[in-house]
Amino acid sequence: MTVTETALLEGVPDRLFIGGEWVESTSGRAIEVRDPATGLVLKTVADASVADGARALDAAVAAAPSWAATPARERGEILRRAFDLLQERREEFALLMTLEMGKPLAESRGEVTYGGEFLRWFGEEAVRIAGHYGPNPEGTGTMVVSHRPVGPCYLITPWNFPLAMATRKIAPAIAAGCTSVVKPAELTPLTTLLFVQLLADAGLPPGVVNVITTSTAGDVSEPIIADPRLRKLSFTGSTPVGVSLLRQAAGGVLRTSMELGGNAPFVVFDDADLDKAVEGALLAKFRNVGEACTAANRFIVHESVAEEFAERVTAAVSEFVVGRGTDDGVRIGPLINDEAVAKAGALVDDAVARGATVRTGGAALEGDGTFFAPTVLTGVARGSDILREEIFGPVLAISTFADEAEAVAMANDTQYGLVSYVFTRDLARGQRMIDALDTGMMGLGVGVISNAAAPFGGVKQSGIGREGGALGIHEYLETKYTLIAPAS
Ligand code: ADP
Repeated sequence: MTVTETALLEGVPDRLFIGGEWVESTSGRAIEVRDPATGLVLKTVADASVADGARALDAAVAAAPSWAATPARERGEILRRAFDLLQERREEFALLMTLEMGKPLAESRGEVTYGGEFLRWFGEEAVRIAGHYGPNPEGTGTMVVSHRPVGPCYLITPWNFPLAMATRKIAPAIAAGCTSVVKPAELTPLTTLLFVQLLADAGLPPGVVNVITTSTAGDVSEPIIADPRLRKLSFTGSTPVGVSLLRQAAGGVLRTSMELGGNAPFVVFDDADLDKAVEGALLAKFRNVGEACTAANRFIVHESVAEEFAERVTAAVSEFVVGRGTDDGVRIGPLINDEAVAKAGALVDDAVARGATVRTGGAALEGDGTFFAPTVLTGVARGSDILREEIFGPVLAISTFADEAEAVAMANDTQYGLVSYVFTRDLARGQRMIDALDTGMMGLGVGVISNAAAPFGGVKQSGIGREGGALGIHEYLETKYTLIAPAS
């Protein structure tokens, strides 16, 4: 590790953040956070017990009334200050994410920008929580529709975007007047710990955001979700865990937001601008080492342009530099752990066994760290596992289609419905695809769609609810309708 890295890691808090204090865990255990590029331990942090989880919820519940009563402008200003502080400290946050998650530094900087935008956006939204006022249709009263904070929230985040997945939940909760307990992924807890310190520096009162890091997510979460004082659960992660959490949330009839898995189709028509399609494909597939729920999972390319598309993406992918995300010029960092490497390998092997051709890459790389060679597969047959499962790795799998109806059928042939990407120069066809593809989001002619000002979310088994945009704050607000009798 470099001197800069060591100094940064020393400054990252290693305890639980409860009621505005850094406290020890009562579990007697600790979590070792590793650099996936080297396998070495970066830092050891507290491993929360069930009792620590309860303490964190106590703190969120205790702070809830005063935070809900805090003027919206004040809540917004704290978020704005946090946004400014994050800009000042962007290099620290970028490096920390690269160290614990592995993505190239340039992409971590991009995540600081993206993640920071949620602070700015929801800081602005805090003062625009508007309702509705008007006569009822019968003219016998006045209807008032207002919004109030939903109450204490439990926010569970994944490891692939350690900052942005946290700010996308924490910022709207703060803006709406909700308090929360945040549980980052055990693989990448450092960014959230550093970030909550930044929130405190920005003036966030004690108890409004509490952070617990734990290696026993299921055991610690269950009683929090079952606690009648909790009102909201927001989760980003895999569909199986999301389904289990929804079952638990049903017990307390909790409000839920679920950002779950994806299996994005990337459809290239024969009339597409291939330069743009190739550029979009490389971004949609290889951003974040392929470890994104929005990552293009299935390339569905018209048979007349499939070979040229494959040659061009293969030429680009074979030039990608693989290495530790801190090194200059690296485009592909390590995968998060051994299981991720094994999964990518198994999906490639299955596709090849069913007739696919490896154009470049195709296997894990030897040596330290959890690296998988950036891969292009062509001729991926229907029924291959890689078309059904989320790859979460740098593997670009191409299948072909003959006409638009077949492309639509292939694209929709999945239980997921997060995002789709479509490349065509025909506007009418593009409009038909907006209607035909069953996804919550679409990139028409672009390979990256995430934006704090847009409603992010999926349909089918990709989730419930929307994060970001004008809808994002409503995930943390209840609607109250009052009928006021006419003046007599
Ligand atoms: P991935 O497969 O991408 O690691 P997971 O869905 O397993 O995604 O993890 C996403 C988040 O959910 C992480 O913070 C993880 O600790 C948490 N998590 C995993 N299992 C459970 C569970 N049973 N209850 C609550 N949280 C969980």
